[in-house]
Amino acid sequence: MVLTERVALITGAGRGIGKAVALRLAAAGASVAAVDIEAEAAAGTAEEIRETFSATSSSFACDVSDYGQAASVVEEVIGKYGSLDILVNNAGITRDSLIMRMKPDDWDLVLRVNLTGAFNFTRAAARQMTKQRSGSIVNISSVVGLTGNAGQANYAASKAGLIGLTKSAAKEFAPRGVRVNAVAPGFIETEMTSRLADEVKEQWHRIIPLGRGGTAEDVASAVLFLAGPDSEYLTGQVIQVDGGMVM
Ligand code: NAP
Repeated sequence: MVLTERVALITGAGRGIGKAVALRLAAAGASVAAVDIEAEAAAGTAEEIRETFSATSSSFACDVSDYGQAASVVEEVIGKYGSLDILVNNAGITRDSLIMRMKPDDWDLVLRVNLTGAFNFTRAAARQMTKQRSGSIVNISSVVGLTGNAGQANYAASKAGLIGLTKSAAKEFAPRGVRVNAVAPGFIETEMTSRLADEVKEQWHRIIPLGRGGTAEDVASAVLFLAGPDSEYLTGQVIQVDGGMVM
């Protein structure tokens, strides 16, 4: 129970990796604020946490790309729990297509949700965390932010941008005791990847040395490490959770 008396806010917590992270942090003793654009999905995660772990958990409907909504969720969480110790910027979307066919709106939307969304919550949480002189922010990037990927220019740019945000925030907040790190998952079996054609999934699996796609729980394990005291001397780092795909 390394996170007892810690308050964690996870975006995109309604399903997939965000939900697995929320459950894992709650299992480690944290009170969890589950944030998602879908109110019902966020509420489902919070309810599962309360039932499974008898832990404190609430849900918040919020579009992370809207700064006003992000700021008011952070304010509500601090009002309710008295602190904010862990922020996991996980909400993310894809709108894949080749650059020459990519609609400018799809470029904008992916950048706004994946990158501006993380900036919004980081900015909103920073005042409390720096005042507390403690906190851990974990951004969910992607290996395609390191390698690029044909057909995913918007997504890869947003995920590379998250790495720049992570390192800049790590440098800004380190003197106040707040750490900022990123996790870069490879191919993880969630609804996001279930939409891909079977042959595309097979292509991904062929280039994974450990021979399987990852699970949301594999990512949650890395987030727990970065969120908690076992990583207290790590900041500005990117941990790949990809079965060895990119090395
Ligand atoms: P997912 O199953 O699609 O879940 C994403 C969650 O974020 C959904 O609950 C979604 O709500 C929510 N969301 C979307 N837009 C939002 C917004 N504007 N505001 C608040 N919440 C929003 O995706 P996942 O596979 O778990 O991925 C989670 C994160 O890991 C993403 O950042 C993704 O880029 C990253 N990642 C995933 C993989 C992978 O292989 N799966 C690999 C690398 C990185 P809705 O239900 O309404 O869409």
